[in-house]
Amino acid sequence: MQIKENFDAFEDLVPPITELNKSYRENLAEGRLILQACAPCGKNQYPFESFCYECGSTDLTEVSSTGEGSVYSFVKVHQPYHPAFKPFIPYFVSTVQLDDGPRMLAAMFESDDVLEIGDRVAARIEKISETEAMLLFEKIRQGTNEN
Ligand SMILES: [Zn+2]
Repeated sequence: MQIKENFDAFEDLVPPITELNKSYRENLAEGRLILQACAPCGKNQYPFESFCYECGSTDLTEVSSTGEGSVYSFVKVHQPYHPAFKPFIPYFVSTVQLDDGPRMLAAMFESDDVLEIGDRVAARIEKISETEAMLLFEKIRQGTNEN
């Protein structure tokens, strides 16, 4: 499917930069998806926090994510809740279980695809301004029942 490439309208939906999300957002703007990694327990996490969700340690670093994972759950959206989404209706909003750790929530605009739980997806990062990008996911192949 030819995606209707108009991501500028998403710029006013971007939440403010904070100390916690600054590095994530700067990396995303450069086309990289990063996660937080806990040094003591080895867990990766998102969203960024000042402590590990697993063990409470504050000894956190950043790691690159492959951006690949499987669809954990999804909804198909038919209503334009914001004008920026109107060209993409209907689209999916999916919770993706990343291979390298946490679950992330993002839109998927390949609406003519059939989406199923377990389908394999990859991160798709789209520029929405000079300094911001948004995270989407796109289906790369149908999942198996093993997922
Ligand atoms: Zn930890």
